Amino acid sequence: MYEGKVTVTLEKNGSIILIKEVPAHICDVCEHYYLDEKTTEEVLKRGSEGLLKGAELEVMKLKVA
Ligand SMILES: [Zn+2]
Repeated sequence: MYEGKVTVTLEKNGSIILIKEVPAHICDVCEHYYLDEKTTEEVLKRGSEGLLKGAELEVMKLKVA
């Protein structure tokens, strides 16, 4: 596992939200990634903001405070 940044894709009700630069733990073998709890919360929060706008496709960068 190594630390890196990934793009998380959320899809709901026909909307696609891409959240870039999400800090993650990435598996060396299969490149599956794991987000810690705080990051997951932030991703879901940003994602639901995007969904509320009703955009078909929303691309954003994650800013972790
Ligand atoms: Zn793996």
